[in-house]
Amino acid sequence: MAVINCPTCKKKISDKAKECGHCGLSLQALDSDKIANLRHVNRINQAQRLMNYSFVAMLLFCGGFFFMFNDNVEQGSWQHDLAMASTVIGFVLYLVIRVRLLFFKRQK
Ligand SMILES: [Zn+2]
Repeated sequence: MAVINCPTCKKKISDKAKECGHCGLSLQALDSDKIANLRHVNRINQAQRLMNYSFVAMLLFCGGFFFMFNDNVEQGSWQHDLAMASTVIGFVLYLVIRVRLLFFKRQK
């Protein structure tokens, strides 16, 4: 079972559903080509979203990292703690997203 976006209301529905639970569109009217196409578009969107997340994580990491070694930031101050937290969170998020992307690209 795969999740696709409803062609009219764009909400997530199962590709096995007979009709959209949100707007009531009958999916039996759609042929398998259209469903496959929807699934393909959905995959691209998902990959794009993951890429955006990884970009944000990277920004968090870099921003925190540079801020942490900024001369104006004293060690032990809350700015330093915040920069450190941002670096760690950004790093972990980035790793998690990359792994997810890897698995995402493998599955068919
Ligand atoms: Zn719908």
